[in-house]
Parts: sequence; C-alpha cells; structure tokens
Amino acid sequence: MLKDHNPLWHAQPVDAVLRSLQAVPNGLSSEEASRRLEKYGTNRLPEQAARSPFLRFLRHFHNILIYVLLASAVITALMGHLVDTGVILAVVMANAIIGFIQEGRAEGAMAAIRQMLAPRSAVLRNGVRATIDASELVPGDIVLLEPGDRIPADLRLIEARGMKVEEAILTGESVPVDKDCSPVPENASLGDRASMAFSGTLVVSGTARGVVAATGGGTEIGQISGMLSRVETLTTPLVHQMDIFARWLTAFILLVGAAILAFGTFVRQLPFDEMFMIVVGLAVAAIPEGLPAVLTITLAVGVQAMAKRNAIVRRLPAIETLGSVSVICTDKTGTLTRNEMMAAALVSSGREYTIEGAGYAPAGMLQAGGEPVEASGDPVLVEFARAAALCNDASLVRSGDDWRVEGDPMEGALLALAGKISDGSLRAFEHLTRTDVIPFDAAWRYMAVLCHDHQGQAFAYVKGAPEAILTMCGDQQDCNGETEPLDEAYWSRSVETLAGDGQRVLALAVRTMRQDDTVLNTSDLEGKLTLIGLVGLMDPPRAEAIEAVSECHAAGIRVKMITGDHAATARAIAAQIGLRNTGRVLTGADISDLADDQLAEAVMETDIFARTSPADKLRLVTALQSQGLIVAMTGDGVNDAPALKRADAGTAMGIKGSEAAKEASELVLADDNFASIAAAVRQGRTVYDNIKKVISWTLPTSAGEAMTIVVAVLAGLSLPVTAVQILWVNLITATTLGIALAFEPSERKTMLRPPRARDAPLLTGELIWHIVLVSGLFVVAVFGIFAYALDKGYSLALAQTMAVNTLVVLEIFHLFFIRNIYGSSLNWRAVKGTPIVWLAVIVVTAAQFAITFLEPLQRVFGTQSVPIRDGLLIIGVGAAFFGLIEIEKQLRLSLQNLNGRLAPHFRREAA
Ligand code: ATP
Repeated sequence: MLKDHNPLWHAQPVDAVLRSLQAVPNGLSSEEASRRLEKYGTNRLPEQAARSPFLRFLRHFHNILIYVLLASAVITALMGHLVDTGVILAVVMANAIIGFIQEGRAEGAMAAIRQMLAPRSAVLRNGVRATIDASELVPGDIVLLEPGDRIPADLRLIEARGMKVEEAILTGESVPVDKDCSPVPENASLGDRASMAFSGTLVVSGTARGVVAATGGGTEIGQISGMLSRVETLTTPLVHQMDIFARWLTAFILLVGAAILAFGTFVRQLPFDEMFMIVVGLAVAAIPEGLPAVLTITLAVGVQAMAKRNAIVRRLPAIETLGSVSVICTDKTGTLTRNEMMAAALVSSGREYTIEGAGYAPAGMLQAGGEPVEASGDPVLVEFARAAALCNDASLVRSGDDWRVEGDPMEGALLALAGKISDGSLRAFEHLTRTDVIPFDAAWRYMAVLCHDHQGQAFAYVKGAPEAILTMCGDQQDCNGETEPLDEAYWSRSVETLAGDGQRVLALAVRTMRQDDTVLNTSDLEGKLTLIGLVGLMDPPRAEAIEAVSECHAAGIRVKMITGDHAATARAIAAQIGLRNTGRVLTGADISDLADDQLAEAVMETDIFARTSPADKLRLVTALQSQGLIVAMTGDGVNDAPALKRADAGTAMGIKGSEAAKEASELVLADDNFASIAAAVRQGRTVYDNIKKVISWTLPTSAGEAMTIVVAVLAGLSLPVTAVQILWVNLITATTLGIALAFEPSERKTMLRPPRARDAPLLTGELIWHIVLVSGLFVVAVFGIFAYALDKGYSLALAQTMAVNTLVVLEIFHLFFIRNIYGSSLNWRAVKGTPIVWLAVIVVTAAQFAITFLEPLQRVFGTQSVPIRDGLLIIGVGAAFFGLIEIEKQLRLSLQNLNGRLAPHFRREAA
C-alpha cells in the first residue's frame, strides 16, 4: 500500500491521510512501528552497486609504472632471463595486493565514519517524543521538524508554523518555499506541493509535524536515486599534488633511464640485455611507486584516529587544514560547558530562592534566606513552575534512579524545577493544553506558548533572554501574585549578579489571553507581559575543556568564545575555562557598531563575544581571516551554516547540531566537546607530519638507490647491486618500512609548536638538502662496502650481497631517524618505536637473512653467505650513517633555535 508511490497525499485532507496511513497524531506504538519496519523495509535510499572486488584489484595495475614493469617482464622473458621476469612479476603482484588490501581497509574506515554521521530524527512513539535513527522511520510515523533538519522521509504535514523548506535538491529552486497543511490541487507540480515535506530537503525556519507517507526508495528522492550517491575519494590537495609530482618524476626517470641505456649500450659498448636489466632496476629504484598508496593509508589512519577521539572528518582536506589552525572560535554551551543544566536560583520581585537537587531528578529543596520554603503554597513559585513546564518542548525520561532529558537540556532543567515546586509531579499542569507556540529563535531569543484550560481561561507563557523579555513586560508580579510596576533597575542588577556567577539567566513572563484566542502573535506580547522573575541555571565547565584550552594556548592557537549568552555569564565561564583577555567582552551590539576594518583590529584583542547572532559569527570569521589566521569555528543551528562554510575548518556539534550545520562543516564532533577539537588539531598536525615523514623517507631512499646505479654505469664500475637485487629491495622495503610511517603516533612536542603557515611548502629547501645528503651517504656507504669486499678478495657475488645488505640496513636506520623530525631520535621512547615499526623491521631482516643465507634463494638472487664479522661491519656502517645524520639534524635544530633567539636582538640592534 504505502510503498507504492501514492502521488496524491498532497491533495488529501489531513484526516484522510492519517486514516489511510493508519496513523494517529500522537504516534505509532513501538510494536506497530517494528511490524511496519519489517513490512516496508528500512528508510534508506537504494545503494549503488559496489564495484566488484576483481575489478577493484585490476585497477591497481592501471598505472604507468606497472605498465613499464609489465613490458620489462615480457622483454626479459623473451630474452630468457626468467628469474628476473619472476621477480618483476612478484613486485607487481605484491604492489597490487597491498594496494588492494589497504584501499579496502581505508574505504571500510570511511564507510564506518559515514555511519557515525547517519541522520537521526525526532518522532512521536507511544505518545512521547523520541529520537531514533532516520533509517528506522516507517509510514505512519509522526515526525517533528525544526529549523536545520534534513527531512528524513516524504511527509504529509499535519501541523506547521512559519515553516519554510529549501527544496533545491529536488526542484533546483534554492529560494525556500512556504509549507502548511492545507491540501493542494492534485495536479500541483512537486515544487507547489506545499502540504508535503520531501525527503532530503532542508527546514530553513519554523516548526512542523508530519506523518511519514513514503520511506526509502518510495520517496520522491528515491525515485531519482543515484543522484545522491556521490563517490568520496581518499585524497587531499597535498596528496593530489604529490600524485602529480610522482607522475612527473616517473616521466623524468624514464627519460634518464633511456639516456643511460643509450650511454651504456653505445658509449660503454655493454650488452643490450644487461643494460636493459640495469635500466629496469634503476626505474624501479627511483620511481616512488609506493608513495601514493602510503599517503592514502596515512590519511585513512588519521581519519580513524580522529574518529576514535570523537572528531569525525566529513571532508578529507580538513585534515590538512586542521593541522594549521591558528584560532578556534567556540560556542560556550555544551562545548566548553557540560550542557548538563540545573536551575540553581530563582529571583522574584523582592525574594531570592536557592534550589537544591541533583541532575534532572524533579526532587530537591527550595530555600529562601537560608530557610526551607513550602513551594506548593507560594503563588509566585507556582507561577514560575507553570511557565517553566508549559513553555517547554522537552521531556524527562526516568530509567531507574536516573533522569534523562529528551530535547534541550535547559528545558529539561526547567521541567525538573517545575517538578521540585510541584512536589515531584511532572503532570501538575496537564490540564492546560497548548494551542499555539512561537518557537525559540536565536534571532529574538525567546519562546512563547498559548495555553487553554477547561475552565475557559487562556494564558500566554514566555521565557527567554532577560533583555528580550523585559522589553515586552509592562509590569511584574509581587510576592502575592498581584501585579505591580516594573522595577527595571532591580531586574538588571539581579541579572548581573546571577550571570556574574556564571549562571545562564532566563526571564519568565505571563499574560492572560481571551478564551477565543487560538493564535499567538508577537503583537500579543509586546508591552503586555507580566514578569514572573528570573531563573539562574548552572552549567559547569568541562574539566577536559580547561585542559584542552591550555593545550591550545601552548600550541600557539588562540581560543575565542562566541556565545549567544549574556556577557557576564560568558565572562564568568571564560575565566573558569582559562581563556585569556577576560576583562574585555564584545557584544553583538558592539560588533554591529564596528566597521569591518575596526572589527578586524578588535578581534585580535578580544577573546569573548556575547549575545552574538549567526550574522555576527560570519563577520567575526571574515575579520579573523583578514588577519591571516586560519579559523576553526563551531556551530549548531541552521543559521550558523554560512559562518561554518566560511571558516577554514567549520565544526558542527554532533549531538545538538542540526543537519544543516553538519552539512556545512568539515568536521563533526560526536560528543560536542571542545577537547575533541584540540584532539583533532593535534591529529591534523600528526597526519601532516606523517605525510612529511613518508615523503622524507621515500624520496632520499629512492634517490640513493638510483644514484648507486647511475654512478656505477657512468664511472664504468661493476654494479654494486644487481638489477634483480634492486627489484628485491624495492619489493620488500617499500611494502613494509614505508607503510610503517603511516602509523606513527604524535611526536611529543606536537602541541608545543606554533601552527604551520597555511601555504608552507612540503618540498622545502630543508627536505631537498636531506635528499641530497642521504642519497650521497647511501652512495658512499654502498660503494665503500663494495670496494672493501673486493679489496679483501671476496667474489663479486659476495661483494654485491654485502652491498645490498648495506642498502637495506641504511634504510632501516633512516626509518628510525625520520620518526623524529622535530626532536632527538636518541632517547628510549624513540628507540622503543611502535609495534608496527618493529614488525616491519623484523619482516625485512628475516627476508634479508633468507636471501643471504638460503641456498635456493641465493641461486635466484646471485647472493652468497656473508661472514659474521662483515655482517657486524654492515650494521656498524648503518649506525655511523645514523650518527652522522642525527648530528646534522641536531646542529640544524640548534642553529634554528639560536636564530630564533638572536633575531629579535639583531632587530633591536638594527633599530
Ligand atoms: P552558545 O552555545 O554559544 O553558548 P547559546 O546556546 O547560549 O549559545 P542561543 O541558543 O542563541 O545561544 O541562546 C541565546 C539566548 O537565548 C540564551 O542565552 C537564552 O537566554 C535564550 N534561550 C536559549 N534557548 C532558549 C529557549 N529554548 N527558549 C527561550 N529562550 C532561550
């Protein structure tokens, strides 16, 4: 019935739709929902068929280097060098297999991360609000919509207020359209079906309820399926540039290879087939064939490590950006604080109350002037409770002794407060039913409801930021529940006192309405409200956020709080969290008064921004960027999307964030916690370092191997390492040692360095010098050992065996060196390494022992057993090489430090 696409829901009245969907306005029961889930299937769009594993495997052969190698395999086979053919084919296969396995793992990791971002949806089940996985929605479910929601299924609206939906994804029209519940003509086009909210479209403003009419493939978007399935590729600008670099390098090496082939054959008059094998060896040695795969693995490992720390990367390039973030702009509530609210104080006209209790349990004593008060007998307190309970969309759920909030924690705290005043009852005000609502909007900072009871009375209850409410109040309630003139000075003082204590302050107000009023408008409130009083809500700072803030400061990253809350609350929390410059706060009003250039100056000296609007956030990001800073910015509402998009690393809240905010962001915090941003930055720096390490290890290694061959051919010497041995070294080291670097943990001082400049080049002069130095040392060491062996009268085969072992030993020592590019490699932590590094070393060592000492392999690789003493000598050469490059690094680092210290001195002198 329901899965068959019914095009007429939009034209039928609400009752008829509910009837035919066998639905009721307060939702399905869980049993009925699971029955329907079985019948209609999950609410997921049909997935695109995945590529077959065989085809994915074959794709790893589609690469210019592999073509070169395959061609060489054919030629060597034709020339009768079957051993070489075998080794070349083994290299090709090993590369493809490792690439295939690693790509599979990386894709698996990304898929798991996408799963963490699966949308959730607020529904009514068993008559109460519940948040479920959107994939579990069934036809007949009642879905609650608010601004920022991505609509989870095709809904027929049954209630709508100020609802605007952006349907570009379906209709191409980016101007939001108005929605309501009235039927529209049968032949209305998709864009004109105002009574429907279609799956995949975005709620821009207003609130609504709708009954699910179609799910999964039955939705409009499901009908045009395939449109949404986008392919995510595992790449970032840096890796892409490296790819291009590797391709050009390949072309260059092929050209050099051709020149050497010509030189060897025609000038040196060496046999063509021997020269050909040498050039194949050269090409394999010099081309960093494993590099792109290892970089991809490095990214995938980074993404996984971030996900473990609750930072979910939505766009891979963000990993690079995060590493260079120089300022983090963060929300307060939930990010720096725990968002576990509790009403701690009430202020009425002339009286102050303190409230006790724990969590959201609706039980706790109220005191005034140190004496317990009988709450249910106090008319003002009862009015507080009514406003708190009725002007509220949350619900409290009890499980054992624990109370949990479904909805906004602040509203949960207000429900608990109402319960405390009403002797633990959460149902004290159920006789008042809600007739209309003006939903909370960050732009006007209040929420209002219209309620009727059964005795012919009607009231409007309003709660919101004190400034917003006070301007709408004409008078206030005295301690007997009578009205008296509004004492604005008293209330302003009280607000400052509560806020100065770090409490979030809300004002509550009421007005009597006419019984026949069924619609609430802002004009009903302005100047006509009676103030009940203020509520102070405690929201303790997160301990881990305090640590993370000081970690960021140490890492040269500024932290700025941008909150919708009151300036005094913001300042108090900022001081508790350890932000700097707490003496200065800019409010939204101050920001509006500043021109762009003034704002650009002000943002550098201010760390706290209060009562800001989403538009202010956008201006603040732009101002910070104009100062050359790289900005990470958090946000949750639909209106935050422009600022999140504009920021270099937009960061959405995973729990309280809207879908719109998540989609505009690079990063989503699964736990809404500031500490997770700091962890993401640390990981971003680590990934960048690891990419740098992979490159710094691979390029000199390749260059060193290649230089050995080139020098031998040009100088007319015998090759210290044969072509087949070079192929072997590449096969075994590129697939083990190189990959180990992708898994490197953060270096100890990662968060003690200032952020790197956004456009800092990867191939720095320093790296080029490192390549020259290391490849030079490789050549000297390999030729040195080779000459030593020949000098001792060893056979050519033994001398070559020693040379190839030297090459591998140097690569292992180089790996240990590269693991610490910023600090010393000569300490226990550095030597201890990681399990992966040691696994790689053990595999390589075992493989080297095998080709050196096992007779059948000796025949294949033309090797001979190396005497123990010479083996130790080779290790000694490796150690000497390590010592040399380590000393060179320490010299360079201390010179840099010295420079850093001297520079200001010289500048002063010059001045
Ligand atoms: P941040 O997360 O940065 O701390 P915020 O949550 O305090 O921001 P908003 O959500 O924009 O910022 O809220 C601004 C003010 O609006 C709050 O300080 C509070 O006074 C009021 N407010 C917030 N939520 C509600 C609500 N549901 N009903 C009525 N007023 C609200």
